[in-house]
Amino acid sequence: MEKISVAVRFRPSTTPDLPADRQWRVEDNRISLHLLDDTPISGVSFAFDHVFDQSSTNDTVYDLLIKSVIDAAVNGFNGTAFAYGQTSSGKTFTMNGSEDDPGIIPRAVRDIFHTTQMTTDREFLIRVSYMEIYNEEINDLLTLGNQKLPIHESLERGIFVAGLREEIVNSAEQVFELIKLGEANRHFGETNMNVRSSRSHTIFRMVIESSVKDTISSGDVSNADAIRVSVLNLVDLAGSERIAKTGAGGVRLKEGKHINKSLMILGNVINKLSENGKQRGHIPYRDSKLTRILQPALGGNAKTSIICTVAPEEVHIEESRGTLQFASRAK
Ligand code: ADP
Ligand code: MG
Repeated sequence: MEKISVAVRFRPSTTPDLPADRQWRVEDNRISLHLLDDTPISGVSFAFDHVFDQSSTNDTVYDLLIKSVIDAAVNGFNGTAFAYGQTSSGKTFTMNGSEDDPGIIPRAVRDIFHTTQMTTDREFLIRVSYMEIYNEEINDLLTLGNQKLPIHESLERGIFVAGLREEIVNSAEQVFELIKLGEANRHFGETNMNVRSSRSHTIFRMVIESSVKDTISSGDVSNADAIRVSVLNLVDLAGSERIAKTGAGGVRLKEGKHINKSLMILGNVINKLSENGKQRGHIPYRDSKLTRILQPALGGNAKTSIICTVAPEEVHIEESRGTLQFASRAK
């Protein structure tokens, strides 16, 4: 079992000049909480594989945390990268990025096409799908109205989302067009785009299939490595904030319950996977749509990276502690 890589990333403060009684401090791969006079607050100290401070770029995050997952995927190993954190902490910035600093998804897409085009002894077939899980329902983002899709399992295909559009792609530009289409479909009929996107999980998926060139003519059909298929999932999770006990009713309350439950199950699955050896026991993949869909690319010899995003402002300290606790359980 591959070790799960866990990183934390702070986004820049939106109120850098506001006086604060408590402040997060990053030193190498450690995070601690300090009082104004610099005294560390005891019991609030964490260490991770990587900690990215406010000045970090998507470039660095990609190189240190994600590139190995992408390289493995091109070589036939399943992989998953998650962004976890409260709304406005920088998940989508990390996954999608900006014009000046593209995020994990566009970097991965370019990297995959670059690597596969440089590989002369194999032939590649790449397919893309893009879906969201909203209130425990799976919706296809590439086909408007293709909603509430079921999960099936067969000997031939393993676990799959039935009816999900899978588009064969030949270039990075073609993938970017599909992503744009997905974003447009997702926001169809939404008055507040940010609200919906912070309450659903989105899974961007690439299936990378490759075969040795000239297998048949060279008579080398016995080569176990002749055909490889891997699944890569890049996941922007729903906001991890706790819904307020008062004030939230109806739709918001229902959404909140689904989100809290599926993130808790994800935490349980990852926690089990990161435990050593045989004592691990039952892994509750089936308890949520998210973990069920990701099951083949979590655990086993799949590579998994988690980036937990944190809002540095003092008002968010309690939520941030929750995020850091989630990250700690994943190690
Ligand atoms: P989330 O997806 O977690 O709700 P966003 O990624 O939308 O959060 O980030 C909230 C805001 O902060 C956005 O305006 C985004 O551009 C900005 N932001 C987030 N992270 C960074 C970062 N590392 N550097 C610069 N701006 C960031
Ligand atoms: Mg977002």
